[in-house]
Amino acid sequence: MRITVNPHAFTDMQLENAAAILQGGGICAFPTETVYGLGANAFDEKAVKKIFEAKGRPQDNPLIVHVSDRSQLDDICTVTPLAEMLMDRFWGGPLTLILPKKEAVPYSVTAGLETVAVRLPSHPVANALIRLSGLPIAAPSANLSGKPSPTRAAHVIADLEGRADCIIDGGDCLWGVESTVLDLTVSPPAVLRPGAVTKEELSEVIGEVIYGTGVGAPKSPGMKYTHYAPNAPVYIAEGEDALARIYSAAEKFQKPGVLYYQTERPKFSSSVFAGKNEKEYAVNLFFALREFDKMGVDVIFAMPPKEGGMGDAVRNRLFKSAGGKTI
Ligand code: AMP
Ligand code: MG
Repeated sequence: MRITVNPHAFTDMQLENAAAILQGGGICAFPTETVYGLGANAFDEKAVKKIFEAKGRPQDNPLIVHVSDRSQLDDICTVTPLAEMLMDRFWGGPLTLILPKKEAVPYSVTAGLETVAVRLPSHPVANALIRLSGLPIAAPSANLSGKPSPTRAAHVIADLEGRADCIIDGGDCLWGVESTVLDLTVSPPAVLRPGAVTKEELSEVIGEVIYGTGVGAPKSPGMKYTHYAPNAPVYIAEGEDALARIYSAAEKFQKPGVLYYQTERPKFSSSVFAGKNEKEYAVNLFFALREFDKMGVDVIFAMPPKEGGMGDAVRNRLFKSAGGKTI
């Protein structure tokens, strides 16, 4: 089933069928302010399994449990004082917190971990759907495993039509990169995935925050798989003479694609402008990677933004999509 809603003007009635599908153990794709999610009742082990099957997602990659009201957390996790402070400041919004799990949450959601990831989105459609279902909704991004995350309904349709019981088209996502994931079960708290809520902003509220050990960190199994990968190999080109290096590396290829940032438009027809700043870059990143697939390029060269703030979120996704390859 496909449902189209205007995120600024919709009624509960438009989402009732989708909520009923979730209550009945089905899986439903829905818009959030970060990327589209593929959701199921977090307490229903069978429903959660369907998410892994639809995406082809490895079983040891945990999901995020989405709520529309903080009172839902009572059955899900232990809310610590630091968590309260962060929720007051950043919820609803693109911040996921890792907290000790409670028994009602099946291990299929947490990939066997004693911790659970929780988030309260700011997207009105996501929140209305969760509220109408009356359930906490476990959801990863609504893409085939390994592919770039979907920032538009068309991306979800391309990946999951016929695999999800319902797809809600609620327009383009605001941020374009997934939520910041912060582990509050370690001290100091560790960012496992940078996102729109920056490390700097987190520190302002709770003091010292560090980056987790990154790729392969055992606390975040999600980090060890190929991620955000378009069809063509991606190479990162960083620094002042990035464009010159791209021109020389591109000679070996038939149809190079370039994701360019803070430089002139490269001479190749398959060039995509990343945006005027890091925030725009984040919004455009996954869209651009999927556009390169459509253009049929045989290689992608990408110029990353500088480190810090939102730049860290974009760099994290880009380096993963490149599998760390640079020129
Ligand atoms: P995604 O699959 O893209 O929607 O993002 C969900 C991500 O949240 C996973 O890939 C993990 O990196 C992270 N995550 C979820 N639950 C946990 C957890 N209990 N511990 C660590 N990371 C988690
Ligand atoms: Mg994902």
